[in-house]
Amino acid sequence: MALTFFNTFTRRKEEFKPIIDGEVRMYTCGPTVYDFAHIGNFRAYIFEDLLRRYLIYRGFKVTQVMNLTDIDDKTIRGCNAKGISLNDYTAIYKKAFFEDLDALKIQSAEHYPEATAHIKEMVDMVKILLEKGIAYTMGSSIYYRITEFPNYGRLSGMNLAELKTGVRIDVEEYEKETAADFALWKGWDESDGKVFWETELGKGRPGWHIECSAMSMKYLGQTFDIHTGGVDNIFPHHENEIAQSEGATGKRFVNYWMHNAHLMVEGRKMAKSFNNFYTLKDLLNRGLHPLAVRYVLLSTHYRQQLNFTFDGVKAALASLQRLWDFHTNITDAPHGDSGGRISSLVREAREKFIGGLDDDLNVSPAFAAVFDLVKGANIVLSEVGGLSPAEKREILETWDGFDSVLGVIKPPEESLIIDEEIERLIQERIDARKRKDYAESDRIRDHLSGKGIILEDTKIGTKWKRKVK
Ligand code: AMP
Ligand code: ZN
Repeated sequence: MALTFFNTFTRRKEEFKPIIDGEVRMYTCGPTVYDFAHIGNFRAYIFEDLLRRYLIYRGFKVTQVMNLTDIDDKTIRGCNAKGISLNDYTAIYKKAFFEDLDALKIQSAEHYPEATAHIKEMVDMVKILLEKGIAYTMGSSIYYRITEFPNYGRLSGMNLAELKTGVRIDVEEYEKETAADFALWKGWDESDGKVFWETELGKGRPGWHIECSAMSMKYLGQTFDIHTGGVDNIFPHHENEIAQSEGATGKRFVNYWMHNAHLMVEGRKMAKSFNNFYTLKDLLNRGLHPLAVRYVLLSTHYRQQLNFTFDGVKAALASLQRLWDFHTNITDAPHGDSGGRISSLVREAREKFIGGLDDDLNVSPAFAAVFDLVKGANIVLSEVGGLSPAEKREILETWDGFDSVLGVIKPPEESLIIDEEIERLIQERIDARKRKDYAESDRIRDHLSGKGIILEDTKIGTKWKRKVK
């Protein structure tokens, strides 16, 4: 079977054919670094991580770019409110973002360009759009004239006639020719405070959409393979990226557009504005395991909505524990020989795994393949009593391959300790302190610390949390 992806642009599944054989260039819209990312955002980054990892598993060389949106209304408002520079303000959230990526085992992209470091590229692009008559100046700002781009609305299925007269997208931009025209460059006003750039376009700052067009094309070329984001990015953000990029180059911008559905909380999208969000640290502080969070965000197909619950994360850890135990049991299995049964189990698991993920990253059959292998190999192990070195190798190599895609099925060194054991050790430490055996109490604290568990003694007892690596 061929590798297929659902392309938002054509609204159907298509066989994936990269521009250059064996290579994939992809762009993923990154975080707006005005605050800590919430786990809804991480659903998008985990979908993109799965895509990246699977492409690598299928033998492609991947070049991924994820931007950091450090210039927008929210970052500017934030730094001005605190009276610090834009860079000082966003640095905190950039650092936290990379820590969360690590904790969730999201692989690094090849490039993380920041808007603040690419003003020149944006200005150059706006200049081309002005020269072509696709952009126009109003006051000190510059807008994109959507009527100059006949394909405007193709990605999102919006109707251009409706957009022309429709509701204003941004009430403050009252001077535009057409309601859905959008800002490429925003002239400075007092609310921007010290945040501005003096450029050939005047004193001001870029609009959000131009940031992604300029940075994606700089690192990936004028036409590249895949562009991703959450469904909320389809309109207006990605629609505008297409208009800007294709308007400027006259070439097709992106071949495959892929969008993930939302993480929901009680029927609503998880969002800062609804105040129904959790950051990763919120969850870790409640004792949840980062890989259980990864598993929850990963194990529902990316185009299906996913409802977040704490029980879901707790159940996820139990499933993972089973997979981690299996890995340990296979590694430690005594000598034996199944006479070919293991080889056929492994072959079936691989076929099912690839068959599922080839079909628009369908993770359900892929995880089913993993659990089938566990079940099958456990039966063999209990009947035969052991494995030959070649059989062990077969299982463990396949497991490594699956884990290179899923990133959750191998036991992480520091998390071989489960909640019940932590609670037991904390109780032992309390007992030790009662008998004034401080050496023992310190030993338990150090032991837990070595396993990545931090204890905190409070008035209402001892609390614990997992260290974020
Ligand atoms: P932002 O920082 O708002 O630009 O969002 C970063 C990424 O997270 C984008 O790809 C969004 O589409 C995505 N996103 C935001 N909220 C959610 C959610 N509740 N579920 C899934 N993805 C989301
Ligand atoms: Zn973007």
